[in-house]
Amino acid sequence: MSITIGLDIGGTSVKALSLDETDTITARYTYPTNSTRGIEAFLDATEACIASLITESGQMLTSVGIGCTGPIDYQSGIIENPYTLPGLEGHSLSHLLRERLHIPIIIDNDANTAHLGEVHSHPNAPKNSVLLTFGTGVGVSIRIDGVLFRTPGGIHPEMGHIPTSVHRSYPCYCGRTNCIEHILSGSAINRRARELSHNSAEELLESKEGKPFKEELVSALTDVIATFTTIFHCEAVFIGGGMQGFFERYLIEETQERINRLLPIYGRSTIERCRAQEDAGALGAALLGRNIQ
Ligand SMILES: [Zn+2]
Repeated sequence: MSITIGLDIGGTSVKALSLDETDTITARYTYPTNSTRGIEAFLDATEACIASLITESGQMLTSVGIGCTGPIDYQSGIIENPYTLPGLEGHSLSHLLRERLHIPIIIDNDANTAHLGEVHSHPNAPKNSVLLTFGTGVGVSIRIDGVLFRTPGGIHPEMGHIPTSVHRSYPCYCGRTNCIEHILSGSAINRRARELSHNSAEELLESKEGKPFKEELVSALTDVIATFTTIFHCEAVFIGGGMQGFFERYLIEETQERINRLLPIYGRSTIERCRAQEDAGALGAALLGRNIQ
């Protein structure tokens, strides 16, 4: 028996797991990203994590798959994000780890690996789906006829900056005032709630005064889903990330009702919560790693 290891690299922490040939998770490991300590320190911590997973599993390691936040060049493996991983940008993590471990290693955007993990955990996954992760930022992954969508050259498209109909008076770091990340990311939602009420987003939405705020969020989410389903005709839109519970509690039901009332030219999609949740990114990364063998 052998294992493949999946790493899910976020701005704060790295979640890792090992997967054996029967799709059983044999061990888990989490460590702080600490990207500002630089690439060598990060590689040392990652190597220690991999050694621990091999010891706990007691099996031979054949490959490693990595899901990483932000823009990643799928072919060169270069991390291109100075915002969430300062200290690691400009380095090819897959190349550098391959030099240390001498096994096949592949890296992709974390929304893509979460999408692979979600589809794997789904009892009846459709062939066309969109996965949206709402956390500190917004991640988007598209799957068409069972294959992940990539731009020419292999760079993951930054679709979190597609516009919605809701504007703010201040711009997003991308320059727009109405992009998905600027309205629907966890940071954006919490900032807006504080502007409106000095309360948390949950407290505001639970109160009578929260109605206009809810209208903004549902309108923006409806825009996002209508845009993606119009282009890709996906049967399912998966909602995940750290804000998944918030979206389930306050936004999904009403958004689904609005989507159902739109003309069929906008496609017919079902909004679904992510099942794999915390494990999705690392599980998908392990599956990606297994396929390069
Ligand atoms: Zn933006």
